[in-house]
Amino acid sequence: LSDVCDVPEQAEKPAPIDLDAAERAVSDLMKALGMDVGNAALAETPRRLAKAYAELLAQQDVAMTTFPNESRYDGLVVVNGIWFRSICEHHLLPFAGAVSVGYLPGDEIIGLSKLARIVANVAARPQVQERLTNQIADWIEHTVGARGVGVVVRATHSCMTLRGARAVGATTVTSVVRQRMRTEDRYYAEFVRLTDQSGHDR
Ligand SMILES: [Zn+2]
Repeated sequence: LSDVCDVPEQAEKPAPIDLDAAERAVSDLMKALGMDVGNAALAETPRRLAKAYAELLAQQDVAMTTFPNESRYDGLVVVNGIWFRSICEHHLLPFAGAVSVGYLPGDEIIGLSKLARIVANVAARPQVQERLTNQIADWIEHTVGARGVGVVVRATHSCMTLRGARAVGATTVTSVVRQRMRTEDRYYAEFVRLTDQSGHDR
């Protein structure tokens, strides 16, 4: 028995990508940056960049498969190391990293691969890391009736490492805990222990 739920985040689906318009805009940007768009070596660059952004922003629908928690499992479920990449909405430059997702099941459990799909879906839109973290937690909280939810995102932002502060190697960590993972010390402590990657970040 499985159950496919509609997810609130799907409602804010972005408008379709207009590749031709994006290509023209990239060409204009290159001209504005002093690049010679007539150069044969650069002829395909506007199309390539437009397609690269379209790929980064390609939304894949997630059918949220849940299963009855038949064994009455009452411990945490934690998945670490879910790799993602996204685009920061302030600079349209990539940021990338890994997510740890944990939840405390109620009457239902989530198909494990769906956790990775949720992360990919939420990351495939212009983002800030704080909202990305919240949206992953929202999704799990609302679709599976979890009794507790925790999300930790560790990411490197190219707008911070390659420009601006040029803080090479800096990692930004965001973390939200909800419900019993927030209110009960034992669940919070276990979540922290199971997601602790302090020795493995680099
Ligand atoms: Zn940025």
